[in-house]
Amino acid sequence: MIDPKSAGVSDSDWAEATANCFELRVSKIVEEIPDARSIVFEIPDDLTRAFGYEAGQFLSFKIPYEGKVLTRSYSLASSPVTDGEHKVTVKRVEDGRISNLLNTRLEVGDTLMVVPPGGLFVLGAERRGIALFAGGSGITPVISILKTALAIGDRSIALLYANRDRRSVIFQQEIDELVQANSGRLRVRYSFDDSDGFLSAEAVREIVASDLERDFYLCGPGPFMDVIEHALADLGVNGRGKIHVERFVSPHDPGDDAVPVEVATDAVPDGTPESITVVLDGKTHEVPYREGDSVLAAARRAGLDPPFSCEEGYCSCCMAKLAEGDVKMTVNDCLTPNLLAEGWVLTCQSRCQSRKVRLEYPD
Ligand SMILES: Cc1cc2nc3c(=O)[nH]c(=O)nc-3n(C[C@H](O)[C@H](O)[C@H](O)COP(=O)(O)OP(=O)(O)OC[C@H]3O[C@@H](n4cnc5c(N)ncnc54)[C@H](O)[C@@H]3O)c2cc1C
Repeated sequence: MIDPKSAGVSDSDWAEATANCFELRVSKIVEEIPDARSIVFEIPDDLTRAFGYEAGQFLSFKIPYEGKVLTRSYSLASSPVTDGEHKVTVKRVEDGRISNLLNTRLEVGDTLMVVPPGGLFVLGAERRGIALFAGGSGITPVISILKTALAIGDRSIALLYANRDRRSVIFQQEIDELVQANSGRLRVRYSFDDSDGFLSAEAVREIVASDLERDFYLCGPGPFMDVIEHALADLGVNGRGKIHVERFVSPHDPGDDAVPVEVATDAVPDGTPESITVVLDGKTHEVPYREGDSVLAAARRAGLDPPFSCEEGYCSCCMAKLAEGDVKMTVNDCLTPNLLAEGWVLTCQSRCQSRKVRLEYPD
């Protein structure tokens, strides 16, 4: 689509930025609402495995833009079980660079450089009910989870879908059809800022109070998620049901100064280790470490296969718990203060600062 050279990106920068990407062709574009369109990709046979995905995961795109290569992620709004296509839906953000570009300049037949699916905001294997909260474009991973859960089990599902106004609803027809086909299992409630006001904590409590032992999935604008998270905390949901959160943010531009985040256990920072201990899939490995390496890079060089996706500190796929030692993260655009306090770090951004470091990936 956009030639990296004409966007001022050198061949070497482009090659480096797209090393973990595959080139995919756009096979269809659907104008959903005036400010959002869906983009469908053709997946060649030899990439079917690499592009296999779980409901709720996202694709990341590398886009050359004014001398930089910007990374943007978009959740798959299709279901791996019921849809035979890979579809993302991009909503324009005011003054947003890439969302507007994809809404105005992308055409069928263009190609984009794409990182295979990643993300931890996924449908689990539990059998309890599901409560989905989507705000605006936050419906994209939520509808994937919704379609998939309806297709593969008998879990009851409630969806609250908030929008500025009725005209901003994406996937209206698809949701109506799902409600008709699953009237006993699926309840959908809409909330419109222009007529109902912003979603209140009271409304959230009313919706969820009858059953707190569910999986809760939240995706939408920050203030919308804050209201729901506070309401769920007040009800003491954590520990009974499970809360899953996806935040739609853009990563820092490459080269922009990010404030490093230091994370330490009780250890005193005292240099760099020659090797680090990595616990992955329940097995303990001693991994050689070179100064300046990220923990992720060291683990991969040693032949391990730890989870990762964006490698820019915002997708959280590579998180692990720091059980011993001290690391410094260059960028953290996704771990909340609570997660940091519990010792979680992003391994793609973590560099060792003490002679003993032990990291444990979640099972
Ligand atoms: C896991 C994940 C999944 C996502 N899924 C979706 C999805 O399914 N659909 C969807 O629509 N979005 C999704 N997003 C959000 C998406 O990745 C982008 O963040 C969004 O499209 C905005 O990107 P942009 O380039 O248009 O905006 P940006 O250019 O990043 O701008 C964002 C904001 O910063 C301001 N800004 C403008 N210029 C600059 C500048 N030079 N420097 C800094 N800030 C600037 C803008 O005013 C704007 O308000 C997802 C994000 C994540 C992390």
